[in-house]
Amino acid sequence: MKTGYTADIGLEVHAELQTKSKMFCACPIVDLTQAEPNTAVCPVCAGMPGSLPVVNQQAVMAGLRVALSLECEVMGTSQFARKNYFYPDLPKGYQISQYEYPLAITGHLPVRTDEGWINVRIRRVHLEEDTAKLTHIQAPNGESHSLVDLNRAGIPLLEIVSEPDMHTINQVRAYTRSLRTLLQYLGVNSGDLEKGVIRFEANVSLRPVGCPDLGTRVEIKNLNSFRIMTGAIAYELERQSILLDAGGVVQQETLGWDEANQVTLSQRSKEEAHDYRYFPEPDLPPLVITPGMMSEARENLPERPDRRFRRYVTDFGLDAYQADLLTDEKAVADFFELTLTSMAQPDPTLGANWILGELFGWMNLSGQSIEEIPVSPRSLAGLLDHLQGNVINAATAKIVFNEMLQTGKEASEIIRDEHLQQVTDQDDLEKLVKRVLTDHPEQVSAFQNGKTGLYHWFFGRVMQESGGRADPIVIRKILDENLKV
Ligand code: ADP
Ligand code: MG
Ligand code: ZN
Repeated sequence: MKTGYTADIGLEVHAELQTKSKMFCACPIVDLTQAEPNTAVCPVCAGMPGSLPVVNQQAVMAGLRVALSLECEVMGTSQFARKNYFYPDLPKGYQISQYEYPLAITGHLPVRTDEGWINVRIRRVHLEEDTAKLTHIQAPNGESHSLVDLNRAGIPLLEIVSEPDMHTINQVRAYTRSLRTLLQYLGVNSGDLEKGVIRFEANVSLRPVGCPDLGTRVEIKNLNSFRIMTGAIAYELERQSILLDAGGVVQQETLGWDEANQVTLSQRSKEEAHDYRYFPEPDLPPLVITPGMMSEARENLPERPDRRFRRYVTDFGLDAYQADLLTDEKAVADFFELTLTSMAQPDPTLGANWILGELFGWMNLSGQSIEEIPVSPRSLAGLLDHLQGNVINAATAKIVFNEMLQTGKEASEIIRDEHLQQVTDQDDLEKLVKRVLTDHPEQVSAFQNGKTGLYHWFFGRVMQESGGRADPIVIRKILDENLKV
């Protein structure tokens, strides 16, 4: 993009809520990539005349928890509305959404970017239902068909609308990742973008640098991955800047993203914008949020990931890279903190190194998640206690940990049964060092004649003869004393 402009980007994020049943009926929520199409359907979500919707309280609670995490103002009474339009993925001919009276308004999310923290204001958070899923196929005879899967129709969706507070692609990426992590922390969304559980719409405009007024925006619909979303926004920033440079004006319109050709295409202009003819849903009473619901939602709020990140840096002294990896998944952060509290002498850096190094290495190799590994935080703490207490050295600790991961045994058990206790006794180690030196007189004189690189060789010999159990610090000390000329 040319440098003469400031970009303003606002996002509408649609997140499916992981509830047991759909938003307005008792149909189960099934994995769309696994379940047989059109098997989780009833008259309500199929839009049969005369069927009546009932609000899913679990979805309301999930939405409430998200709204509170975003520090929104929750509306005591909100209202469902019918958004009327025809499309093959919408059997009722309207979508039940919230319009004039959303669940919550005016929140914000602090977002960490490579260039520091930004604050993204949230305009509104509202509940609605998903539409059916359309799949466009080419039949063997060359005909095109659109297949409809009603399993998705009626799945609860939470729409989170930001203010146009992002100005770069990096900020967009950081915001959407932070929001996804937050939803995962709250347990309301799997974050599995490949399964379409989070979808984006981006509003993009440009204004001359220094100009206080926002430029005319376009809205890009149906962006279903980080890559597609950032690609579409980058394209649009470029297109608008070229247009403005040439003296043109940006038309307010709705665009689609053509992935094959990597361009945005106009879907409709402002003049032909939909008139959705919103009106209050006559089959649903206003949604009332009671003080009891508010306190229940508050009680179930986990510490927000950005706060956890800051705490890891300030209280634990971890670097941003470590704090980021540890807080990215709530289960990992929980594991880390439980390990620390279980240690005799909690050492955040030691705990972080072991989880990010050895444990993540094992998880990568084995394909196990942190919930699946057979070592508990308490067991890892037990191993680290042995290491800190000098019972075993670091190299042995790695071997023990590997065995713990394979067998589920405790560190103390493995160390005892396999006699892995570190040899720290000064006299024993001195004997060992002396023996190695007398056994290798040529290396000793070579060392004393300047081949100092042999030091590592001596160290390795002693370690080897001790079965890897010698205390490395003591060996170094004795070696230094005995190799002096
Ligand atoms: P609409 O239904 O018209 O799309 P919404 O309230 O759903 O209205 O969404 C408006 C979105 O557009 C918000 O995310 C907002 O931040 C963003 N937006 C509004 N004006 C601009 C602008 N000039 N440039 C970029 N984004 C904008
Ligand atoms: Mg919009
Ligand atoms: Zn149903």
